[in-house]
Amino acid sequence: MPTPPMGAAVNAPQSLLWTSRKGYDLLRHPQLNKGLAFTLEERQQLNIQGLLPPCFLTQDVQVLRILKNFDRQTTDLDRYILLMDLQDRNEKLFYKVLTSDIGRFMPIVYTPTVGLACQQYGIAFRRPRGLFITPHDRGHVATLLKSWPASVIKAIVVTDGERILGLGDLGCHGMGIPVGKLALYTACGGMKPQECLPVMLDVGTDNEVLLNDPLYIGLKHKRIRGQAYDELLDEFMQAVTNRYGRNCLIQFEDFANTNAFRLLEKYRNKYCTFNDDIQGTASVALAGLLAALRITGNKLSDHKILFQGAGEAALGIANLAVMAMEKEGTRKEEAIKKIWMVDSKGLIVKGRASLTSEKQQYAHQHEEMKNLEDIVRKLKPTALIGVAAVGGAFTKQILKDMASFNKRPIIFALSNPTNKAECSAEDCYNLTEGRAIFASGSPFDPVKLSDGRTFFPGQGNNVYVFPGVALGIVSCGMRHISEEIFHTTAEVIAQQVSKQHLEEGRLYPPLTTIHDVSLKIAVKIVEDAYRNNTATFYPEPEDKEAFIRSQVYSTDYESFLTDSYSWPKEAMKIQSITF
Ligand code: NAD
Repeated sequence: MPTPPMGAAVNAPQSLLWTSRKGYDLLRHPQLNKGLAFTLEERQQLNIQGLLPPCFLTQDVQVLRILKNFDRQTTDLDRYILLMDLQDRNEKLFYKVLTSDIGRFMPIVYTPTVGLACQQYGIAFRRPRGLFITPHDRGHVATLLKSWPASVIKAIVVTDGERILGLGDLGCHGMGIPVGKLALYTACGGMKPQECLPVMLDVGTDNEVLLNDPLYIGLKHKRIRGQAYDELLDEFMQAVTNRYGRNCLIQFEDFANTNAFRLLEKYRNKYCTFNDDIQGTASVALAGLLAALRITGNKLSDHKILFQGAGEAALGIANLAVMAMEKEGTRKEEAIKKIWMVDSKGLIVKGRASLTSEKQQYAHQHEEMKNLEDIVRKLKPTALIGVAAVGGAFTKQILKDMASFNKRPIIFALSNPTNKAECSAEDCYNLTEGRAIFASGSPFDPVKLSDGRTFFPGQGNNVYVFPGVALGIVSCGMRHISEEIFHTTAEVIAQQVSKQHLEEGRLYPPLTTIHDVSLKIAVKIVEDAYRNNTATFYPEPEDKEAFIRSQVYSTDYESFLTDSYSWPKEAMKIQSITF
């Protein structure tokens, strides 16, 4: 890393101290470029005077300009490309825009539009953002990491593109996911973007359409699996740790079921890693359940939970719910008995064929059953959680039945996108006379019942979890991510839901408060880490909140002027001219 120039003014911006960039080169650098917001003095001092039109805009006016352009686009994919172009041009402005209205921009930089973008990544791809690692790099991954310009990386989001959202195998086009996720690390959690690295492990694709597409940007062969795959993964994990340190956070994202659980088990105690599809989902769903308990007024262990689906999401939620019940004082074996699962072959019961070890522990003594309506009637669950991506699986009959044996039935239709939701918010509230405690994976509009009551469905979005978790872990230099962290996170999120929110049907805090929620999660994680001796950053900061806030990325431009330089008076006069 270059050292700051001798005699550089102490108040010079950090970014400038670490770069020798000046002139045209500076304008092409997204982390330094301010476009028309460069002042006259900066333009002169940095040798860019004349390279920009003679107009000076504030950052707020620049935001308005972007919004105007944003509104002129006709499709969400065009809006996505506009924002990605901005990220490549002027990073601070990109995040200023995102944070100006996170609810509006999140569906563009992340789901659902990012899914569309991944499907069209051959067209949407502009400039490289992140690292592409392939099996051909075996034995050289460490060297490849050195190609990335930043030497301080604190968080990585990695995918192999095999299970992108609900869209399946998108191979190398899945790179849109780590890019989008890390944008939310910054926009929602305040992580510094220059310390985040998106990674695509391109091991091929089994998607025939992509293999035959001349615009496909990835390796054109079937996925490598088995030993060759595992060796690449092992080398990647080790190379990251060697280069960026043992506390570099590695988030696994959108790996297929078989690899997701296996890799989590393999690496969780060896590296600083978590899987968002399993653990992030679990945390946000548990947060919804904990908020629901404030309505039902009982304990989680008083409930019988039935999952429609037994994949990454269902098993992650179930495992965390068991932990929550244990914390209430219920023994693990008893807690497990409160959880039932249905997969594509029906109710998971003891002795049934095709049960993985993860599913096995939720297999109870019971007759085999296939039909969900029959299963619901037989088991009479108090909570029904849909995570099988089977749209409409919670039929009208099921919703009515849930209302018939529960005063306040908990019904979460978490499958994405909207057409995969197990039921609509409208059906759920209407068919349960407004008694259902409802949450969904995709957003639903408010529902007005005929009696005049209006409900605002809660959206169990993982974005409530991962930015705050990452900020906390990275700030205090934790080396392992325990399951406990996701339980704590769920508690913090649930505590942010006010009484009024609950009365309105909301189980999550408003998205507009996401930055505050992330900060609170980070502070709690850091407090616990010092208490449990799992933090490695020393000396221990006394005021944890102030410590976290001091780490947070600012979207405001830095001044590039140094004290050591003074401009001729004549040059300064020009600045008073208005354009
Ligand atoms: P997965 O592929 O790991 O699991 C899907 C499960 O559904 C499998 O167990 C499969 O057997 C089961 N299934 C398939 N067809 C079925 C049927 N007809 N009846 C019963 N079960 C059936 O996928 P996942 O990662 O667990 O995600 C599942 C869904 O949950 C997706 O739609 C995803 O978008 C959604 N999800 C939502 C959130 C959220 O809201 N925060 C987070 C993660 C996942």
